Amino acid sequence: MSEHLAARAVSKSYWKGKNEVPVLRGVDLEVEHGELVAIAGASGSGKSTLLHILGLLDGADGGQVFLDGNRIDDATERARDRHRNRSFGFIFQFYHLLPELTALENVLMPLLIRHGAWSYLSRRRALERQAAELLERVGLSRRMTHRPSELSGGEMQRAAIARALAGQPEVLLADEPTGNLDAKSGDGVLALLRDLNRERGLTMILVTHDMRIAQQSDRVVNLSEGRIEEWSAAMA
Ligand code: ADP
Ligand code: MG
Repeated sequence: MSEHLAARAVSKSYWKGKNEVPVLRGVDLEVEHGELVAIAGASGSGKSTLLHILGLLDGADGGQVFLDGNRIDDATERARDRHRNRSFGFIFQFYHLLPELTALENVLMPLLIRHGAWSYLSRRRALERQAAELLERVGLSRRMTHRPSELSGGEMQRAAIARALAGQPEVLLADEPTGNLDAKSGDGVLALLRDLNRERGLTMILVTHDMRIAQQSDRVVNLSEGRIEEWSAAMA
């Protein structure tokens, strides 16, 4: 296996008035192609901050982010946009689906953004089929025309997973994907993510303080005091 995504000496502070609050103090992390890594750590330890920096949703104060050996965090605005739209897929604890759109339309949205309105319209049939297949894959074939308010939490997260996959990302970044779900739907979502990781060889980083995720992952690391500690899944 080869290194896919890496953080080197990543640091980040927030400021409360004149007080610097260091969150990440030199994070080193390497994730292999097709690996499923869980980042554990207490609430407030900086897990979301780190995930956002890895996926270029936020900038670090120091350090670097590499994708396939190329530094990406200092790329041009345009190149970083491209990475956000194509290299990375994101899943959030509260799904972030657009409430006025159906599940199918939510999954189509990244394709519309990617292709632009004209190109999208000319390929609409094919793209709709692609989105429908993704919703089938996540178990929502009978929920395609439902709006988020008509879906359960687990179904909303499945729709969000289908949307994240629509852009055919290389790396899926998930921030507490089961954090708002009951145990049963959470287990279903985890099993789905694990299956997608295996069947597509998709690299995944899951942030969590849910120890059940640890059992589904290849490797668990712990974020503590602003640094990463390796932690074997066997110990979890
Ligand atoms: P986690 O995801 O592990 O719960 P976060 O990355 O969300 O942790 O936050 C880490 C720390 O940084 C927390 O103390 C939080 O209050 C602080 N923090 C996060 N985002 C901001 C922000 N935009 N402004 C100021 N402080 C922030
Ligand atoms: Mg968080």
